Amino acid sequence: MPMRDLSAGPRVLLRRLRELMAEPLDPQERLDRIVRQIASNMVAEVCSVYVLRSDGVLELYATEGLNPEAVHLSQLKMGQGLVGTIAASAQPLNLSDAQAHPAFRYLPETGEEIYHSFLGVPILRAGRTLGVLVVQNKASRTYREDEVEALETTAMVIAEMIATGELKKITKPGLELDLTRPVTIEGDGYNEGLGLGHVILHEPRVVVTNLLNEDAESEVRRLAEALGSLRISIDDMLSRRDVATEGEHREVLETYRMFAYDQGWVRRMEEAIHNGLTAEAAVEKVQSDTKARMMRLTDPYLRERMHDFDDLANRLLRQLTGFSGRSIGEGMPADAIIFARAMGAAELLDYPRERLRGLVLEDGAVTSHVVIVARAMGIPVVGQAVGAVALAENGDAAIIDGDDGQLHLRPVSDVLKAYEEKVRLRARRQEQFRALRDVDPVTKDGKRISLMMNAGLIVDLPHLPESGADGIGLFRTELQFMIASTMPKLEEQEAFYRNVIRQADGLPVTFRALDIGGDKVVSYFRAHEEENPALGWRAIRLSLDRPGLLRTQLRALLRASADAELRMMLPMVTEVAEIHAVRDLLQKEVQHLSKFGHSLPRKLQFGAMLEVPALMWQLDELMAEVDFVSVGSNDLFQFSMAADRGNARVSDRFDMLGRPFLRILRDIVRAAERNKTPLTLCGEMAGKPLSAMALIGLGFRSVSMAPTSIGPVKAMLLSLDADRLTETLNAALDDRQPREPVRELLTRFAAENGIPV
Ligand code: PEP
Ligand code: MG
Repeated sequence: MPMRDLSAGPRVLLRRLRELMAEPLDPQERLDRIVRQIASNMVAEVCSVYVLRSDGVLELYATEGLNPEAVHLSQLKMGQGLVGTIAASAQPLNLSDAQAHPAFRYLPETGEEIYHSFLGVPILRAGRTLGVLVVQNKASRTYREDEVEALETTAMVIAEMIATGELKKITKPGLELDLTRPVTIEGDGYNEGLGLGHVILHEPRVVVTNLLNEDAESEVRRLAEALGSLRISIDDMLSRRDVATEGEHREVLETYRMFAYDQGWVRRMEEAIHNGLTAEAAVEKVQSDTKARMMRLTDPYLRERMHDFDDLANRLLRQLTGFSGRSIGEGMPADAIIFARAMGAAELLDYPRERLRGLVLEDGAVTSHVVIVARAMGIPVVGQAVGAVALAENGDAAIIDGDDGQLHLRPVSDVLKAYEEKVRLRARRQEQFRALRDVDPVTKDGKRISLMMNAGLIVDLPHLPESGADGIGLFRTELQFMIASTMPKLEEQEAFYRNVIRQADGLPVTFRALDIGGDKVVSYFRAHEEENPALGWRAIRLSLDRPGLLRTQLRALLRASADAELRMMLPMVTEVAEIHAVRDLLQKEVQHLSKFGHSLPRKLQFGAMLEVPALMWQLDELMAEVDFVSVGSNDLFQFSMAADRGNARVSDRFDMLGRPFLRILRDIVRAAERNKTPLTLCGEMAGKPLSAMALIGLGFRSVSMAPTSIGPVKAMLLSLDADRLTETLNAALDDRQPREPVRELLTRFAAENGIPV
């Protein structure tokens, strides 16, 4: 048994390890020396490292004390034996009599039967288990708390070695380490399409490279200072008057505050510093330990708190390292797939479109604005991709499959090949849709359906001739405001709209007046925090209270449409009086322009969006007042069902093709027929062949959708007998004792009639 070196504490050990890490050694040699060093320092007869492979097996990579022949031979499955138990639970095991433990498994080749006491800790990185580090002694003893802590700290150094890829060189051919394990995540397809590329974490993790401290006391002070600033910033946020007294936002901040003042957290970080780590490495270690334990929880509430804790620890890391960078711009791969827990629409627009191949969201919902923007940009989106951010590292290869809602991280070559084939097939299908470009969208029974596309950016415009759309049914003008860093001036707006009209080349464009507020955040426009932004000060409400903003836009639109037709519509109308108010402003602008000798539009078509249920009981007044009505089904659905469109947990709960919503839509169609008011629908439901089919069955003769949907929707309607569907659908909606969900009925109708949906 080695002599106990009384001066040798964890700090000495870490210093020696640092020297070893810096030496030019081959990986096996380095690992061998590391275990020897740990054994001698901890007065243990045995020290072993097990590394987790991608096949879920823990393989002995180095040992001091056990039979050297067992290295790269001894194996335990995840959950098997003591080592497998530690890896599976991500918790240390400290045993004075290892063989008495029920999980103990005897590996004859190691010769470990003479060792009684056993201490094993998980090797963790960002909460993921990469392996297990073990020390053993012949004598029966329980390791002290500071020894457990020291071994955990040492494990971080080994984690670093695994993460840098150094151990790959001594991994058996054909096998891989778990860190590079291929993973498939099942989420929901929010926008179809396939993307092959590389991961960009929207909120990149701070990579701590400086692990070992020179002076513990100064590191403890750095930690205390960073914690101080963190607490002040949280207290500040909480004391702001615009943070309401109740609600989710406050709840999250309260949780942050609870963590930030948690003495246990602080104590564990200080302990890690006293064991030799820098302040940032200590934050990371405790974060990783806590995360590893919390990741195994099944309670959704507690798992959510894990995200809060993780965010807080990241904030602290950023305080300590001064790191705040996003991955936008330099260093961004040309085929980026963005991974985010959640993201605002404006943040997505910050990324250069030509480098984006996909977007992965852990949260989000199909009609949230970030998804709509992604759809406008034509990038595949997978939402509800649980755990994706934690499993991915910047630069990992990835495949996003927006059709099936799948995500493949670090795909093996077979999967990659299969997808390359899928991409080819898809291209062929697109080719077939393109061939339909010049075919008139007329149903089998002769109904001409107007297929329009949605747009909002100049990059969308080439899609108009490519898709063969009849025009732009919804031009979201707020997108120009969302990508600008300052409020676009009158001249800029005018030039922009003029450009849009020119590129539309005679096809109609319906401009929607600014729809900002809610989740459409414009950075230079300071809105107040609101408890319920979707029901808040947004769109037309905001425009009427800030008439300067709206008048500038109206003037720009009028000037850009000189001698042409101007079609414009108002978002989020709740009362007919709002339309009068905007008409008055428009009249003033017309007078102003004619006074100064400007040419005016040849024709003005003024419409309203139907998105607020209150309009359902003003349909006749509304239709008497406007030239056309466009249903915003995304908002109308969220308000009708009282289900936040950005929150999949509630929005996916109800079906847009369910009876209540279809009845609402049918009432609108009937009112439009009664009033002879042109009607269209421009929400996301217009772009799905099955729901577009339902809309035609209800009587819609005009729909507006993302340009990539034009082909599939046209292919659907060419085989549709609209009158027959109307009959079937009306019967189903009038049925007072319905047996079959309407979605099923529609799917069956399509299948029986050979309609591609
Ligand atoms: C809608 O609400 O359906 C709509 C088209 O508008 P937006 O998605 O921009 O809110
Ligand atoms: Mg809307």
